[in-house]
Amino acid sequence: DRRPVPVKLVLLGESAVGKSSLVVRFVNREYAENREPTIGAAFLTQKCTVDDRTVKYEIWDTAGQERFHSLAPMYYRNAQAAIVMYDITKSSTLDKAKGWVKELQRQANSQIVIALVGNKLDLVQENRSEQNEDADEQDGNGTSRQVTFEEASAYASEAGLLFFETSAKTAANVDEVFREIAKNIPHD
Ligand code: GDP
Ligand code: MG
Repeated sequence: DRRPVPVKLVLLGESAVGKSSLVVRFVNREYAENREPTIGAAFLTQKCTVDDRTVKYEIWDTAGQERFHSLAPMYYRNAQAAIVMYDITKSSTLDKAKGWVKELQRQANSQIVIALVGNKLDLVQENRSEQNEDADEQDGNGTSRQVTFEEASAYASEAGLLFFETSAKTAANVDEVFREIAKNIPHD
């Protein structure tokens, strides 16, 4: 009969890495290609039960302000958890993510649980069937990984972050991110 523990979670990361897609996948179990950018700040909730404890995520998604580098500290103030995202096919987005991690570690709640998430795992060659690769070659659409798992994972452990590679498109590892964060939220 224990009440769900409310947990404020914020998303940070460069525009178009898939923040909104990840949240919509987790909360609504769906994915839409070419979704409209969020208008206004989006707020979604979802429960997650791990080891007899239920966490109720209160998830704040940005309205795309990250495009103008103008996410106010107010956005992440009091957050108990943060997902900092990058796109594994675009290395500049990892640099941006590292900047956000520094800012959170300097300015946010000292107990904050931060997960580094490399998204768009479905796009990388090693993950695809040969048939898909052939199709990519034919239409010139091949995409390759620009951030290795090892590089990002080494950075994450050095910085004390949880780390996952995900695909909002296929749902790979999406629930795992939220479950692992829930496990790491301190008990009171
Ligand atoms: P945001 O700006 O970080 O919120 O990113 P969005 O969720 O709006 O996604 C930006 C674009 O990337 C959209 O066209 C999405 O369909 C696409 N996208 C998001 N996640 C994935 C993914 O896991 N795989 C692929 N292939 N595309 C994705
Ligand atoms: Mg968005």
